[in-house]
Amino acid sequence: MGMTETAFQMCINPDCRSRFDRGQVLFKCPNCGELLDIQYNWDKIAVPDKLSSFAARWANRQNPLDFSGVWRFRELLDFCPDTRKVTIGEGQTILEQNCAVANYAGMNPDCLFLQYEGLNPSGSFKDNGMAAAFSHAKMVQAKSCACASTGNTSASMSLYAHTCGLKSTVFIGSGRIAFGKLSQAMDYGAQTIQIRGDFDDCMAQVQAVCAKLGLYLLNSLNPFRLEGQKTIMYRIIEQMGWSVPDWVVVPGGNLGNSSAFGKAFLELKELGLIQQIPRMAIINATGADTLTDLVNNKKLTWNDSRVDQKIIDRYYADLTARNFSPHTCASAIEISRPVNLKKCLRSIAVCDGIVRAVTDEEICDAKAVVGKYGLGCEPASAASIAGLKHLVEQGVIGKDERVACVLTGHPLKDPNVTVNYHKDSLGQFSNPPIEAPNDLDEIIKLIQQ
Ligand SMILES: [Zn+2]
Repeated sequence: MGMTETAFQMCINPDCRSRFDRGQVLFKCPNCGELLDIQYNWDKIAVPDKLSSFAARWANRQNPLDFSGVWRFRELLDFCPDTRKVTIGEGQTILEQNCAVANYAGMNPDCLFLQYEGLNPSGSFKDNGMAAAFSHAKMVQAKSCACASTGNTSASMSLYAHTCGLKSTVFIGSGRIAFGKLSQAMDYGAQTIQIRGDFDDCMAQVQAVCAKLGLYLLNSLNPFRLEGQKTIMYRIIEQMGWSVPDWVVVPGGNLGNSSAFGKAFLELKELGLIQQIPRMAIINATGADTLTDLVNNKKLTWNDSRVDQKIIDRYYADLTARNFSPHTCASAIEISRPVNLKKCLRSIAVCDGIVRAVTDEEICDAKAVVGKYGLGCEPASAASIAGLKHLVEQGVIGKDERVACVLTGHPLKDPNVTVNYHKDSLGQFSNPPIEAPNDLDEIIKLIQQ
């Protein structure tokens, strides 16, 4: 199936490899339950013969698809007709060469580049994926959509949903709620259903409801979302003058980004559009370090698509037996059973990748440095800087290599962490407010100190 189309869906299980039409709404292989990939019939797509050809699109940016940081690379994710493509101006991001943060991480000053995904319309990288997934939703004529999330996903989904005229429903549990992000979902008009249960209960309910009512599911299983997230790498390459960095460093939570980035580089290499695939470092928080533990201690690998499921099953059974619940201030990566684990293992194989974990203290200090010397970021984003610092100290990343760190979300996404860090002088970069009497001379004295 699918050989006459530009794209099709395919199961990643090597013993299954079932193919499905791009117009089907699946999210998991109906034959074996594994993850699905979007694959392309490249000979049916007019892919430019060099990446710099995409630069011409910028001169035509009054066309919304050429303005979009996702769709100006549309030949590299050609799964739907232009008439169905959705954009709200996502992907107008900045890759900033930042000397001060480079210095903090132990790098040479001109070697560190920060990719600010917080500049997206809903304030996080999720908008890249939603532009792609909502285009698929429009292609299959979905009327309503849903996700379980209290985070960036619900914010991004709600924004794209009202733009596309879809009704959206966000499922949240009664556990910890990131109000900074949930506030966006409410403001963007999503229906919010709070279930008496935890996040796993929400995930189960949202899948059951979607199946029963035919709602379009926008959780992390959606393979079209990852196609949009590939473009973060294209934009890094674009802003580095159409050259690849030596390393990409990315926070690891549900592992959608690392999965998408590896797929992007693999495809670019196969198409002859890049010569060298960058190495990738994926950074967990120590309180949610499933990937680190599985890869570094349990020696789990992609193994040429034959991942040892027994290692994963044993690991998850142990988490259940210990009643383990992940804990980190970086709520966006507070995940112990990452949905895209196997695709991430593939990226590690493709990019000669490595995995590390960093403490909350290291995350908060790194976040303060990005705030003080850069454009700021949410806690999970700063894991990439904290991880880079480790890797430079360990000599894994050379201080003169060109490194792109992906900063996934805007600093205003999680103001509580920021305020607590500064006001209680918790870290080495804390900048607390100073109490002053209501007296001009005293105030002047404080400022001139
Ligand atoms: Zn399958």
